[in-house]
Amino acid sequence: MYQPFYHADQYRPQHSPPSYWHATTPRPTLAPGSGEHTVDVAIVGGGYCGLSAALHLARDHGARVAVLEAGDIGWGASGRNAGFNTLPATKHDYIGLQRALGEAGAAGFMAAQQEALQLVASLAAAEGIATQACGEGSYVVAHSPAAWAGLQDEYHAWRLHTPVASRLLTRAEFAGRGHAGDAQYGALHILHGGGLNPLALASGLAQAAQRHGAILLPQQAVHAWQPHSGGHTLQAADSVVHARQLLLATNGYLPAWLPPVLRHRTLPVISNIIVTRPLSAAEWGAYAYHTHTPMFDTRHLLSYWRRLPDGRLLFGARGDLSGSDASGQRQRAALQAQLAACFPAWAGVDIDYFWRGLIAVNRRLLPQYGPLPGLPGMWYAAGCFGSGVSTMPWLGRALARAMAGQPPSASEAACAMHGLAPRLPPATALQKLGLQFAYTAYAWRDRLSEPA
Ligand SMILES: Cc1cc2nc3c(=O)[nH]c(=O)nc-3n(C[C@H](O)[C@H](O)[C@H](O)COP(=O)(O)OP(=O)(O)OC[C@H]3O[C@@H](n4cnc5c(N)ncnc54)[C@H](O)[C@@H]3O)c2cc1C
Repeated sequence: MYQPFYHADQYRPQHSPPSYWHATTPRPTLAPGSGEHTVDVAIVGGGYCGLSAALHLARDHGARVAVLEAGDIGWGASGRNAGFNTLPATKHDYIGLQRALGEAGAAGFMAAQQEALQLVASLAAAEGIATQACGEGSYVVAHSPAAWAGLQDEYHAWRLHTPVASRLLTRAEFAGRGHAGDAQYGALHILHGGGLNPLALASGLAQAAQRHGAILLPQQAVHAWQPHSGGHTLQAADSVVHARQLLLATNGYLPAWLPPVLRHRTLPVISNIIVTRPLSAAEWGAYAYHTHTPMFDTRHLLSYWRRLPDGRLLFGARGDLSGSDASGQRQRAALQAQLAACFPAWAGVDIDYFWRGLIAVNRRLLPQYGPLPGLPGMWYAAGCFGSGVSTMPWLGRALARAMAGQPPSASEAACAMHGLAPRLPPATALQKLGLQFAYTAYAWRDRLSEPA
């Protein structure tokens, strides 16, 4: 059912991921879906994008919708991410964004990003979703003096050209608000968003969509798709769905039957996470670390971390070309080493959880969405560069509006995320080679940028 880019261990939707969120988040169990359904819109993928599209279609446009998900709802990246409800969903810095999109395009993208954070908050309020929001925005932590200079440029560009509110904190200022470790040289505090429980958000979106009439079909891996004059037919293990329109909301978990026009546009990348045992007040005190605001550093191969509400540290980074459980053990050890380099006092602390999942990147370095050329009634969204917690619900809403025949809002029209990204090399082996090259080049650039 999935295109096997990585080892089969990455593609086991019958099993819940071994994540901290799955172990600690109460959520309703939905019975596996079944039966034959005729709807206006069928959605493949029960993550933020598919669930938000379903919710908005059913609630705001009165559409009949069915969501088919191979695992339980939120099985993909949406239920297992780090819960950074932060921006931006791009690999570009702001100067790069302006170069790629022009001044108006870059500003439009950032305005949409900011609106996406507001959408998560307003959906949670309107639909009664307990997202366990915590922290105040996010900190981008300079890992070297040179990176600190770069952060200052970024801050001035954002202030000048975007509605995003932020402030710079010198090393000493950040030590008083963020953490007082040796591995920081100051930080940019982005004052929008914060941390949340990603699985609670996915479950809440699913419950809201269902309450408004959407049909949820978990554990229904779609193994065949057939376009025809009346629309599309999807075949899954115990269900068949006929629909006038079809949305592929599969992000990094690409279906094996992906239509040719979408092939080789999206590169799945593995992101790995560890969560420590709860740390004591004295252990947190070693770094004067009091905040629940999520943080990530300025490296090309960045690390991200946050203090969880129950006193554990979540620490993550991208990497690995294999995806097997055996290679996962090496990634787990590498994450522990990175954690120890960042916070030496916590070296060797017990790790209670380790898991990983797939994010989606592409050659445009921006999310991509819209109608699929040559396939009437078919739509897609993918490619959030590890920042989809708010962008994917936003794209789901934008797609719902488009599928309902509504004109785009002003922010959707200006968001610069429309259309397909350029194709990658046409073979998995070549794509992996490119990824290996990128990992190596990034690692060297990071090493050279470290302080002596
Ligand atoms: C470890 C990790 C950490 C991350 N941390 C963050 C973070 O802190 N902040 C942030 O903003 N973003 C983060 N991300 C990225 C974010 O989680 C994603 O961008 C977002 O969840 C994507 O949502 P989605 O709905 O597009 O896709 P997904 O949630 O990945 O859902 C796609 C779904 O499609 C289903 N599917 C595919 N093919 C089929 C088929 N044939 N039949 C049925 N179902 C199918 C899959 O089973 C999958 O559940 C992280 C991702 C990972 C993996």
